[in-house]
Amino acid sequence: MANQEDKFKKVISHAKEYGYVFQSSEIYDGLSAVYDYAQNGVELKNNIRDYWWKAMVQMHDNIVGLDTAIFMHPTTWKASGHVDAFNDPLIDNKDSKKRYRADVLVEDYCAKIETKINKEVNKAAKRFGDAFNKDEFISTNPRVVGYQERINTILTRLGKSLENEDLADVKALIEELEIADPLSGSKNWTDVKQFNLMFGTKLGASAETAMNLYLRPETAQGIFVNFLNVQKTGRLKIPFGIAQTGKAFRNEIVARQFIFRMREFEQMEMQFFVRPGTQKEWYEKWKEDRLKWHLSLGMRAENYRFHDHEKLAHYADAASDIEFKFPFGFKELEGIHSRTDFDLKAHEEYSGKKLQYFDHEDNKSYVPYVVETSIGLDRMFLAVFSNALQEEDLENGTTRTVLKLPAVLAPTKAAILPLVKKDGLPEIAHKIVEDLKWDFNVVYDEKDAVGRRYRRQDAAGTPFCITIDHDTLEDNTVTIRHRDTMGQQRVKIEELRDIIKQEVDVKTWLMRM
Ligand code: ATP
Repeated sequence: MANQEDKFKKVISHAKEYGYVFQSSEIYDGLSAVYDYAQNGVELKNNIRDYWWKAMVQMHDNIVGLDTAIFMHPTTWKASGHVDAFNDPLIDNKDSKKRYRADVLVEDYCAKIETKINKEVNKAAKRFGDAFNKDEFISTNPRVVGYQERINTILTRLGKSLENEDLADVKALIEELEIADPLSGSKNWTDVKQFNLMFGTKLGASAETAMNLYLRPETAQGIFVNFLNVQKTGRLKIPFGIAQTGKAFRNEIVARQFIFRMREFEQMEMQFFVRPGTQKEWYEKWKEDRLKWHLSLGMRAENYRFHDHEKLAHYADAASDIEFKFPFGFKELEGIHSRTDFDLKAHEEYSGKKLQYFDHEDNKSYVPYVVETSIGLDRMFLAVFSNALQEEDLENGTTRTVLKLPAVLAPTKAAILPLVKKDGLPEIAHKIVEDLKWDFNVVYDEKDAVGRRYRRQDAAGTPFCITIDHDTLEDNTVTIRHRDTMGQQRVKIEELRDIIKQEVDVKTWLMRM
């Protein structure tokens, strides 16, 4: 655990030191759970967004993009259920004055029991060696079965109480389990209350005419209310999708995990409109496709898992999360939801306008069903960044810090380094920069010994360093060094573009899907 915490602290400090993420308004001591993307961070974030957009929109004939406003008519949020149901159960500790999500306290309690199960499994795996059958052990070992039953009982009760809005029972559960404030150890809790996560604001100049608005808590509703406009003007036939990326805002109760849980964040969502009755197939298909997209980035299959929801949101008939192994454990990175016709029907009802599709094959109109994929751009950033940050022991006994970002996402693709600041080497280096910057984001760096510059670029995540030395003057060749292997090659200046392109090209990466 201490190790995990250390790793996470390193991720946060590295993100600051190398110009990826800063605390918002830092000179005023920051703003809780709000962050700014710095010079390298903005490039990485843009590259992740582009990688998603290419895969989800441009590579599909039947998916189009959209960019809707953050402000929406307030009735939108009545219809979507957010005004009445977008709540988290909160609880305060009277001694520490810290606020928690009541459901998360209970879930964390269960996660601790799960750790015990894992310990038993690891112990048994060691004891039985090759003969160990994990599934059989989990389903028959009395201690493990007991732990699992306990988790199930607790989570079923939590699920029921939340569904019935029985907040007194949620508190009773916390007390029965003797859950203490993780920071202070106190068990002195207030009652559980519902807390709406939407931020309110006002539109209009005068107090009398101003209209109460919300900052959108998800981008999806901008797509639902435009569904018919897009379908008609694009002459789209079902099944088809509409995608967008953009800011969303949630007044999260607990936001202590860097950019994992922010109050202002960005989503990348795609709503796929299908014929009623076919949603199950599409749900399975999108689960599979989205996992393939993640795997195409080479961040190892064992770092991902699906978590199928048993407790479903009011709008869903099936839902699953793609969880990623963050430095603090497996957590939701993306959601795939079968949203039925809930949203379009609700907007029909509240707006009085028909939001139906005329199916020429069936010769009838219907409200389509929707399967959505919804991923947090900031969470994806954190997944990519934390997975990439590594300390490597080298053969010569030293260590190096290297940010092994997938080359397609790296902010800077190549650093161009003259070996010395004289003899015409900087001029050649500048010429190479001028030439390559049409195709890639590249930087020029002449400060310090070349070894130190390599280390600096390794830590910043730059996949290639190109060094110009005295031989370059003779034969027009340069050294190209690969970040991950530290291998070096001597190549002609004219070959640089193709060599870099091969490794950073979106096509090469997406073809792995
Ligand atoms: P969580 O359970 O972690 O609060 P959620 O289930 O409420 O997330 P969704 O409403 O399904 O999340 O939103 C889709 C995606 O948006 C999530 O998978 C996540 O990647 C991202 N997301 C949601 N809330 C936040 C947040 N506060 N900060 C950053 N990303 C977020």
